[in-house]
Amino acid sequence: MKVPFIDLPGQYNSLKGEFDTAMQGVCANSTFVLGPHVQQFEENFAGFCEAKYCIGVASGTDALHLAFRALGIGKGDEVIVPAHTFVATALGVEMAGARPVLVDIDSDTFHIDTEKIEAVITNQTKAICPVHLYGNACNMDDLLAMADKHNLAIVEDAAQSHGARWAGKRSGSFGTAGCFSFYPGKNLGAFGDGGAVVTDDADVAKKLRCLRNYGSEIKYQHPEFGLNSRLDGVQAAILNIKLERLEQWNEQRWEAAKRYSDGLQSLAQAGKIILPDIKSSDEHVFHLFVMQLENRDGLMQALAEQEIQSGIHYPNPYYLEGAFKHLGYCPGDFPVTESIAQKIVSLPMFPEITCEQTDYVCEQVHQFLK
Ligand SMILES: *Cc1c(COP(=O)(O)O)cnc(C)c1O
Repeated sequence: MKVPFIDLPGQYNSLKGEFDTAMQGVCANSTFVLGPHVQQFEENFAGFCEAKYCIGVASGTDALHLAFRALGIGKGDEVIVPAHTFVATALGVEMAGARPVLVDIDSDTFHIDTEKIEAVITNQTKAICPVHLYGNACNMDDLLAMADKHNLAIVEDAAQSHGARWAGKRSGSFGTAGCFSFYPGKNLGAFGDGGAVVTDDADVAKKLRCLRNYGSEIKYQHPEFGLNSRLDGVQAAILNIKLERLEQWNEQRWEAAKRYSDGLQSLAQAGKIILPDIKSSDEHVFHLFVMQLENRDGLMQALAEQEIQSGIHYPNPYYLEGAFKHLGYCPGDFPVTESIAQKIVSLPMFPEITCEQTDYVCEQVHQFLK
């Protein structure tokens, strides 16, 4: 049996008729950039996130970059980000001209360790950017209290958590801005790059609409120094169709996570692996199912031999990469991040994964650790 890491062609084929008709519709009236499909999607996605406004942009990286700029964060400012996340969280800060200041993660949740935030706050700190990593919503009570105490903004990186809730509220709707990616592999993925910012703040929304469109609201008037970062009509048409299925798909992801968790429980009890807390199906939307073990590389090789794909999210702490040399961080600065980077492995995860496939993966993990 083959188990792919994710099955995008399968999802396309299951709704092919609807997707093809929608794409033909965009082509027929040729509203390729912004336009009515984008407007409709912005309305739909704001509603889904329980936020007032949604502004479609070109990518999740730009969603972060433009959200910081819309909040007036730039040169000379600092933004607190987790040491363990996809590189784009820190890139968004850098693109706005500000400095990412890193904080280690909590070893149980993989989220920024809120207790370690206070130690790095300076006069330059303007915002905290928590990441709802792997689809698991952060504890926003603690983060909001910390931001409140120090008068900092919260910009959420919700690129992996479309639909996840904390205390009943959607991820992305807690901070001044919530940033999403619609990269094809995300829980809500387009047929190319795309992103969005959601916010309840009318001024921030207005500024974002301006920034994404050459710094212009009225053609040929440029009050802001903007850029070209817009969502395409084709992407919006696809996203409108997929958004209707998102909650169902997130539920299916959670059910697959539950099957992994049940199937591997005895190994966790024997101390051979560490499983993620599966929480409830709306708190954790399982963008990724990430477990930890000592011989991670051995397991990945054994799975590959059985035609099971797996991944590491992420193998190299980004602050040790060349791009971030100027920040001056060294190996050993974030021990939790560096320790888990050696042990984490992501098992195949997509809404359509079958019981036979998750059972087979569990069987092979047992076989390897026997
Ligand atoms: C995917 C991702 C991004 C960036 O989104 P793009 O659309 O690829 O630019 C940012 N942060 C996190 C946590 C992500 O997973």
